[in-house]
Amino acid sequence: MNWPESMVYRVVSSVFCLLTACSGTTVAEADVVQPGKSCFEQLLPDLYRVMDTCNVYILRDGERAVVIDFGGGTWRNSLDSIGIRKIDYVLLTHHHRDQCEGLLSFDSPETTVRAPRGEEGFLTADGVPNYWKRRKARPSGYPASFSVLPRGLSSVKCDMSEGADLFWGRHRIRFLPTPGHTASAITVMITWNDRNVFFCGDAVHAGGRIWQPFHLEWDHWTPGGAQAAWYGLKRLGYCKIDLLCPSHGPVVARGANGCVELAAKRVMALIRAKGSVCEGERDDNFPVEPMSGLNARRVLPHLYQFGGNSFLLVSKTGDGFLVDPFKPNIPDLEALMAEAGVKRVTASIGSHFHYDHTDAYPLAKEKFGAEMWMHPRLAEVLGNSDKLDLPYLPAAPIMTDRVLPETGEFDWNEYHFNIWPFPGQTRWHCAFMATIDGQRVFFSGDTFQPPSRWNGTGGFCAYNDSRFDGFRECARLLLNVKPDLIANGHQVIYRFHASHYRRILDWCDMAEKAVSDLCPSKDYRRDYYVSQLME
Ligand SMILES: [Zn+2]
Ligand SMILES: [Zn+2]
Repeated sequence: MNWPESMVYRVVSSVFCLLTACSGTTVAEADVVQPGKSCFEQLLPDLYRVMDTCNVYILRDGERAVVIDFGGGTWRNSLDSIGIRKIDYVLLTHHHRDQCEGLLSFDSPETTVRAPRGEEGFLTADGVPNYWKRRKARPSGYPASFSVLPRGLSSVKCDMSEGADLFWGRHRIRFLPTPGHTASAITVMITWNDRNVFFCGDAVHAGGRIWQPFHLEWDHWTPGGAQAAWYGLKRLGYCKIDLLCPSHGPVVARGANGCVELAAKRVMALIRAKGSVCEGERDDNFPVEPMSGLNARRVLPHLYQFGGNSFLLVSKTGDGFLVDPFKPNIPDLEALMAEAGVKRVTASIGSHFHYDHTDAYPLAKEKFGAEMWMHPRLAEVLGNSDKLDLPYLPAAPIMTDRVLPETGEFDWNEYHFNIWPFPGQTRWHCAFMATIDGQRVFFSGDTFQPPSRWNGTGGFCAYNDSRFDGFRECARLLLNVKPDLIANGHQVIYRFHASHYRRILDWCDMAEKAVSDLCPSKDYRRDYYVSQLME
């Protein structure tokens, strides 16, 4: 179906509501809403929109009003111009900062501010400080939200939920769960002038798209947020929608159900992209030899995998080289060193910045004297981990002892390594390869996994700055290099098969299209990514 832009109300001007003197306009039914000079754009009798940091919708009954989402709130100064003297309710579809920041300076005893049940942790005076404490903590995890107020609201009731209709005078206002942008996001529905009007927040954007689709990524490797969004969209789409009022972009006056259905279809494509990067490929795990009493396995005579994530390469001198140093694995390493007769570990190297692959750099240096070697991309992030906003950062900055080439070669004892950028799971990732006991072993961290481990990858998400062209680069590198063995993070060692990586190249096209299709600009480079600097 060739749908989008022709079937939405076009907004002629994107003038933000900074006007001090607004006058109401009455707009006849048409495909085009002309906001004119007023900041209040009338969509239906007694239903207005203001374009603020988000779309703010105002329902008027006499001198009273219900406001759906609040934005920056400057429009309040002009309410007189449309005859409104009292706001009974402000109803927030979800907690994102652009929806409600103006409420920080709004305190009216005659107005009740309500938000969806479940949003307390992102809106209340108690919840918000806790959120920021966790958000700024190190080591960091995946945030529960990407957009939260700097401080909580003094008065907000998080009690909007399905089945709990709000009666406002003779009007009935209903709430439908449409999670996605946030886990508890809600659509506000009212029958207004015989039209079923749905204020859907950011559940859907005109054209069957999603505003800032990275909000649908609730973690870095599952489609959980997208699955919840899909179900919410399906349920929304089962209702007959006469007017769809999203938080960003145009109001959809005709074909709203088609718009919602198209968004659901596109979200399903995202779910599919997150399901597997190498559908139909088979696992070919390389057998490893268990070591009695140790949390370690012998991969090759001079290569051991130990703990959850790490490898130890042993030189003929008896020195050890540590790959992906992770604190909980250090006791396993000490036991393994005793068993394998390794006297000292002289260097360590991480595949990517995530703390489960790097946080024991300093400990290995302190205990064994291991120099901290890093690819430039790791050095950049680990040295600035206190200034960056990325998932799974180590507790404190780690400064490198030796920066390895961006693309090139290095030696450790008798082993000769090649090293490359490997921007898959995250852009700050590298891979390196050496011939060990006659096998060309390719160390590749978390970018790829065998088909049955997770999704055949350690995941892709905007917050990790995963790039589809990066995954392409990684798959092409492997097809070019053709190693014998892939030694990954998370205890995985498997044989290389070209078909696996050719399949991944197909996936790159599919995943890039799935994400681009969701973006209002159709350009994932513009809409998909989230800022990586901590505010
Ligand atoms: Zn939002
Ligand atoms: Zn990782």
